[in-house]
Amino acid sequence: MTSHGRKISIIVEHLLAWFSTNARDLPWRRTHDPYAVWVSEIMLQQTQVKTVIPFWERWLRELPTIEAAAKASPAKLHKLWEGLGYYTRVRNLQKAAQMIVTQHAGKFPERFEDVLALPGIGRYTAGAICSIAFNHPTPILDGNVIRVLTRVFGIAENPKEKATNQQLWQLAQDLVTEAASAKNLGVRGHVRALELGDMSPSSKAATCRRTPSHLNQSLMELGALVCLPRNAQCQICPVNKSCAAFREDRVDSLPNLGQRAAATARHFVALVMERDGHFLVRQRPAGVVNAHLWEFPNMEINGSHTGARKILEAEFGLAASEISPLLTVKHSITRYRITLEAFRVQAAKTPPAIRGALWKTPSQMHRLAFTSAHRKVFAAATKSP
Ligand code: SF4
Repeated sequence: MTSHGRKISIIVEHLLAWFSTNARDLPWRRTHDPYAVWVSEIMLQQTQVKTVIPFWERWLRELPTIEAAAKASPAKLHKLWEGLGYYTRVRNLQKAAQMIVTQHAGKFPERFEDVLALPGIGRYTAGAICSIAFNHPTPILDGNVIRVLTRVFGIAENPKEKATNQQLWQLAQDLVTEAASAKNLGVRGHVRALELGDMSPSSKAATCRRTPSHLNQSLMELGALVCLPRNAQCQICPVNKSCAAFREDRVDSLPNLGQRAAATARHFVALVMERDGHFLVRQRPAGVVNAHLWEFPNMEINGSHTGARKILEAEFGLAASEISPLLTVKHSITRYRITLEAFRVQAAKTPPAIRGALWKTPSQMHRLAFTSAHRKVFAAATKSP
């Protein structure tokens, strides 16, 4: 065996042993159902585990099968996704569910190429589903795994560069292939791993039978819990004896992600108009960011925070006395730092510049899917003074 092969084998052994006693008890780890695994992977793409858990549980309760997801109304899908953001994910999820119904008779495909062909599923997600649900030795490479691999193997080049990216995919493949070859051998006779679907102590002590699945999950778990971007917990890390970055004191300089693009500030103003217990709201059109979601009428403005009132007066023909500040929400989406300034507007007439808006009661609004920022504005608008 080459020294690289020996290193791979040792890392696999230690990761599997560590995962068997340190894996978090996450609800999607109690099933092998590829549909449930798929939904968890899509939700986790841009969102943290603790946020995803209640969304995943509700989704599986409301839409327990691929067929149910394929048939659900867009309003229902968006409402189930409300608060998770990045709504293209849920629209692609439904398109993929419809494809599975028409092209695979409603059964989630098992072949990697068929999974990769589904909308919204890239190489990482296809690899994750095939390994976790079917125990195939398909590699995974996301931000967490990149961090672990660049550190363990001391890779100083930028992971976004093609050759380095290929090298990382190959390492991920080497690891999961080694795990597959360890399958049924008990991994040198003493590695124990939890058995998916049963988190009891006795199952945790069971000899591992799903090693590619557990190996990939152990990489994700190590990146999430131990090999952190800052303050990596090297002293308790199961692979510290094999880790080049730890040995060479380079942990904080890896991965080398190059210069980050500076965030761009964007500023929006929203109008909150209430009349006879109804609020004026509108649905975003198809083909734009946050398509189909609901919001208060708003517009993007150039200029400073202090100019927002003046712009509202000019653009919507409102008098200064009709406008009062309600709430400012700050949040970030991809590379944008967004400020949304909401104003309560008490005008006798609806400004003509507000097109396509509808009057809705609070109980109707609770049933609609709003963007997170506008949901906060709604909460502030309906809070008793
Ligand atoms: S030793 Fe430190 S840097 Fe290396 S993999 Fe473990 S936590 Fe990450």
